[in-house]
Amino acid sequence: MDNAITHEMTKTHDLLIIGAGPAGLSAADAAAREGLSYLVIEKGTIANTIRQYPVGRTLFSTPNELEMRAGTLHPVREKPTREELLSHYIHFVLDRDLKINLDEEVIGIQQNGAEGFIVHTRRETETDDAQLTYNASRLLFAIGAMDHARRLNVPGEDLPKVHHRFIEPYPYVRKEALVVGGGNSAAESALFLSEEGARTTMAIWREDWENRDPKAGAMKHWVRTPLEREITEGRLRVILYKHVDEITTHEVTLTTETGEKRTIPNDVVFVLVGSDADLTLLKRLGVKTVPGKLTEIPIYDPETFETNVPGVYVAGHFTNARHIKAAIEVPQRIVPLIAKSLQSTIAS
Ligand SMILES: Cc1cc2nc3c(=O)[nH]c(=O)nc-3n(C[C@H](O)[C@H](O)[C@H](O)COP(=O)(O)OP(=O)(O)OC[C@H]3O[C@@H](n4cnc5c(N)ncnc54)[C@H](O)[C@@H]3O)c2cc1C
Repeated sequence: MDNAITHEMTKTHDLLIIGAGPAGLSAADAAAREGLSYLVIEKGTIANTIRQYPVGRTLFSTPNELEMRAGTLHPVREKPTREELLSHYIHFVLDRDLKINLDEEVIGIQQNGAEGFIVHTRRETETDDAQLTYNASRLLFAIGAMDHARRLNVPGEDLPKVHHRFIEPYPYVRKEALVVGGGNSAAESALFLSEEGARTTMAIWREDWENRDPKAGAMKHWVRTPLEREITEGRLRVILYKHVDEITTHEVTLTTETGEKRTIPNDVVFVLVGSDADLTLLKRLGVKTVPGKLTEIPIYDPETFETNVPGVYVAGHFTNARHIKAAIEVPQRIVPLIAKSLQSTIAS
């Protein structure tokens, strides 16, 4: 293995895109069409967040909300599975030969006067351990909001049986599983576990359980209906809880909404209470943020998606334009504006 070799990249890219999720891929496509010299840096795989969905999961969205080009995503059923969508994005990259460096994380960015930015990255694979540097005139952060899984901050949360992501139900057949959370991810995971024979308890706040407003993140009806069937048929238990007190190797203690302490047997815990973007790089560049509806978000121009730091743009799930549809649409709109701003810089 090469040990931390530093390569200096002298060429200046017009646009450096951080993240190869739907937003970053859409931006790369738009940049290629605008004739920009661009590069995407992705710390994981193509569409890394979608790869982390539960195995076999069906998307909530229809193909027209997920596809990179109209009429190109053809799932077997009405909505694609995780695997069908991943394949769609991978082949979009391959077919257009989009310029993406995978397994490479952006770890630092400096302003470089009128030249733009110097971007520092680290690529760590089984065969390579390298630090690299790039010059870029414009930056587009398309980093998603999966970096920091939210925690309960209770004793025992670091035990190996506690997970903050749910990938598959198969290891938990006939085990005592607890899912903590009130959103669709938590409900869907509880459903998968219960359907595949885990003795599942879902701990949820009453306001989430009673929420029927889709705009306020209520459980989708196609998740709630089978979930309620699991409850009626005695395979799934719901506890309306106030907080989790402690997780131990074989049990979990929680306080119910009425203040009662309940200790339940437990083999595995899934804490699925959302996740937040890592805004460190943006903040170090001087980008200002505000508290959003759900989480902290960068301040940006709603037309151009440029932040208060000239030349630094944002797109995708960590802005107000959440979900895949907006993550794809926004870069198609703003990259031509970035191309124009580059032309006017050259002209002046
Ligand atoms: C379980 C689950 C189910 C969902 N279901 C749906 C659904 O059915 N329909 C829907 O529309 N949305 C759904 N979403 C939301 C959807 O996944 C996001 O809206 C979408 O992925 C946003 O795309 P994005 O490109 O903004 O961010 P992401 O897809 O999160 O991509 C960001 C990328 O940036 C990379 N990155 C971050 N920091 C760095 C760095 N420093 N250096 C290099 N790379 C970096 C990450 O590795 C990642 O690949 C779901 C989300 C989850 C968690």
